[in-house]
Amino acid sequence: MDYQAFLIKYGEIALKGKNRYLFENALVDQIRWALGPVDGEFQVHKEQGRIYVESQSGEYDYQECLEALQRVFGIVAICPVQILEDQGFDRLKEDVVNYMKRIYPQCNQSFKVHARRARKSYPLQSMEINALLGEAVLEAFPGTHVDVHQPELLLNVEIRERIYVYSQEIPGLGGMPAGCNGKAMLLLSGGIDSPVAGYMVSRRGVSIEAVYFHAPPYTSERAKQKVVDLAAQISKYCGPIRLYVVNFTDIQMYIYDKCPHDELTILMRRYMMRIAEHFALKDKCQGTITGESIGQVASQTMQSLAVTNQVCSLPVYRPLIAFDKQDIVDVALKIDTYETSILPYEDCCTIFVAKHPVTKPNLKAIQRSEQKLKEKIGELVDAAIDSVEVVEIGGGQ
Ligand code: ATP
Ligand code: MG
Repeated sequence: MDYQAFLIKYGEIALKGKNRYLFENALVDQIRWALGPVDGEFQVHKEQGRIYVESQSGEYDYQECLEALQRVFGIVAICPVQILEDQGFDRLKEDVVNYMKRIYPQCNQSFKVHARRARKSYPLQSMEINALLGEAVLEAFPGTHVDVHQPELLLNVEIRERIYVYSQEIPGLGGMPAGCNGKAMLLLSGGIDSPVAGYMVSRRGVSIEAVYFHAPPYTSERAKQKVVDLAAQISKYCGPIRLYVVNFTDIQMYIYDKCPHDELTILMRRYMMRIAEHFALKDKCQGTITGESIGQVASQTMQSLAVTNQVCSLPVYRPLIAFDKQDIVDVALKIDTYETSILPYEDCCTIFVAKHPVTKPNLKAIQRSEQKLKEKIGELVDAAIDSVEVVEIGGGQ
């Protein structure tokens, strides 16, 4: 293996003091978790404001490791590092030139050597190292030239116990490491939008739990499996996810029996939010998340959103609220949920739903309809909560 380590670059320059420390620790934890299933043994450590991932044996799957790191929120760039034993400066010159030949065989870019002496006892000063290594590279690649202000290629040489050489920066996802900004409950359906919504909020450092409402036997085991699969896919980014699977059939049937059919969707959504919030509060989440976007369907007009919102006490985060569908699809493709989301299984929201649901529901009218449910709805909601199935996803990764 050509690279024995990765230097992890992270951003959020505004982070200071205690926040920075929490951010770094959460990032180290998340990196360890993401590398769990990757072939090879890795050490992840924090040192002087940097994070290194090192393979002690050098035996590991480079591509797999890189892909795992590219799914960790909070990483801005990943630099593959070649680690050299310190065998004297002449040998270092040779090794650095060989590194350049391997990575940039046709190198004709401008460059600059940037040496850092973490080991202060090293016999040469940083400036001398820059000059001497620069000279060696120029000799080996006559087509290059040094540009100290805006080099196309920055060759980093860090003198530590061993010597770390790196020049490539592979982009990471950015954002903040999961878990450093609290926790929220995602209403996860089998559609395209909600997995993207969960991913986006989690990218800001929020841990995720999820709740899925199904309506057996009207919705199938396959529809439920699809949601489990979507949760597993986003958990590759967000970390472990506890998924609550709530049986919504009796509530749905009861609403269908008692209320005008064009109000079914909005009434269902209000009960979904109430139940989601129950689990959110129980698990100390600070908010709920949905995949709603203004105007996308009848239940997502401004009026419908307001009527749904009225039953919520926690903040409802709707990261896709101003997104066009295509923008959402683009993210779904990027995070690899799209193919699963478009599998054609039935969703509880589409069953019994009126052809023309109300698009401008009136809060008073909806509240009047809910009065008609008074007799049994409390009992049914309690039963749905009590019979919940809990699926832990990604925990043992
Ligand atoms: P999605 O693609 O996320 O399913 P959608 O465009 O189908 O969204 P709706 O069906 O109106 O829109 O749902 C709006 C939001 O309500 C979803 O993004 C999701 O957060 C939540 N939701 C809808 N159905 C369910 C369900 N069966 N279980 C859990 N959450 C749901
Ligand atoms: Mg849906």
